[in-house]
Amino acid sequence: MGAVRAYAWEVGGTRVALSVSSATDRGHVREINEDSYLAAPPVFLVADGMGGHSFGDRASAATAEAFVALGECTSVSVDDVLTAVQEADRVVQTLGDDQIAGSTLAGIAFVSDADASESRWMTFNVGDSRVYRWGARLEQLSTDHSAVQELLDRGEITAEEARVHPERNVVTRAIGVGDADPEVSLFPAGGHQRFVLCSDGLTKELDDATILGILDHADDLSPADRLVRAALAAGGDDNITVVVLDAVVTSAGSREHADDPSVSARLEDTRPRV
Ligand code: MG
Repeated sequence: MGAVRAYAWEVGGTRVALSVSSATDRGHVREINEDSYLAAPPVFLVADGMGGHSFGDRASAATAEAFVALGECTSVSVDDVLTAVQEADRVVQTLGDDQIAGSTLAGIAFVSDADASESRWMTFNVGDSRVYRWGARLEQLSTDHSAVQELLDRGEITAEEARVHPERNVVTRAIGVGDADPEVSLFPAGGHQRFVLCSDGLTKELDDATILGILDHADDLSPADRLVRAALAAGGDDNITVVVLDAVVTSAGSREHADDPSVSARLEDTRPRV
C-alpha cells in the first residue's frame, strides 16, 4: 500500500504544493507486472509495456527512466518533456532486437517558461494509458491511440462496447515501435487541481463514473490504492497502475498555503471548487 507523499516547491513567483499517491498491481491473470510509473515532481507518468520475454516490463521501465532527470529540476519546459519522450523512444527501440518491445506513456508535468512568468500543466500521452482531470466529474484529458478509439471516433461503437471489444488491446501508437508522436495539451496551472494517471488495467475494469465515485469516497486508503483495489475486485485481468495528484498552485507571496506543508495532504478530502 502506498502512502500519500507531499511535495512543495517554488518557481519564479509561483508556489506548488502537491500530494501524490501511487499504486500498481500485477493483477490476477498476468504473470508479471509490465507497468511502470514515475512520481518525480514536476513530472508524473505511467507506462504500460508490451512484448514477450520480459521486454514489456523493460520497455515501460526504460520509458519511465527517460524522465527521471527531469525530476531533479524545479523547472522544466515543454521542450524538456518532448525531448524525454524522444529519448524514451530511442532507448526502447534498442531493447527488443527482432522482438516487439514497446510501451504506452501517459503523463503530466508542471511546465514553466524560461522567465517562469507563466506556469502551466502539460499532459502528454502515446497509446492507451490515460490522463484525467478529477473534479465534479472525471474528464479525460488524453486521447487514446487505439483501434477502438478509431471506431469510437467513427461512431461505430459505444464507450461501453469499447471496453469489451476484441481489439481493445490494440494500440496505434507506442513508444519504441514506430509511431511515438505524443498527444500534448497545455492549460493554466492555478488553484486546486487534481489529476489521475492510469494504465488500461484500470479503465478496462471500471468505467469513468465508477472511478469518480471511488475517488470521491475517501477512506483510510490513498486514492490510488482505492482505485487499484476496485480494479482487482472487478476482475484484475491486466496489470493496474494509478497515480493520483492533488495540487494547489498559488502565487508565492500569498499567505494562504504559503508555509503549511500539511495543506496538500488535508486537501485530499476537499470537494472540488467548480
Ligand atoms: Mg495494460
